[in-house]
Amino acid sequence: MKRIHLRPNNLKLETAFIALGANLDQPELQVEAGIRDLAGLPQTRLVRRSSLYSSAPVGYRDQPDFINAVAQIETGLKPRELLEALLAIELRHGRVRDFPNAPRTLDLDIALYCSLTLHEPGLTIPHPRMHERAFVILPLAEIAPDTVVPGHGRIADLVRNVDVTGMVKFAGVQKSE
Ligand code: ADP
Ligand code: MG
Repeated sequence: MKRIHLRPNNLKLETAFIALGANLDQPELQVEAGIRDLAGLPQTRLVRRSSLYSSAPVGYRDQPDFINAVAQIETGLKPRELLEALLAIELRHGRVRDFPNAPRTLDLDIALYCSLTLHEPGLTIPHPRMHERAFVILPLAEIAPDTVVPGHGRIADLVRNVDVTGMVKFAGVQKSE
């Protein structure tokens, strides 16, 4: 009898970029833990990650500065599955949705999913306004300058037009001994 073997390495992996942000409860550690959680998702591999950056809040200003980073992953998860997985990680980090632009322990957004453009209720890819947000574009420029944001062009070109006022590359990551 002929057997058909399902080989897991036949899985089609897509490249996605996840934007992370946090400004509560030791935000540097929240973002670092968030990157580890991404690496631990099923059918997913962490390819590279940016440095940490700090940025002043947008929208609602009366809150602590944010720590941001971007992670590049390869994943077999479809966009919806990936979004669900990100929301589950946010919940595990104690994320509470109060109001738009509210302080948060961890925010995980799908910035890019290969060269996909998607407009569905609850999921827009590329993430809206990412192309004009320094806290997404600057970390992306560090790890993937040649990547194209569908409809907006290369990251290396976009980074020249974003307002980087208040953005600081954040050097120190406190690691427990
Ligand atoms: P924001 O990230 O805009 O500050 P939230 O994290 O509260 O706000 O997200 C609100 C909703 O945005 C999520 O429940 C999700 O359904 C939706 N959303 C739409 N597109 C995306 C995307 N590309 N990545 C993550 N969330 C998205
Ligand atoms: Mg979000």
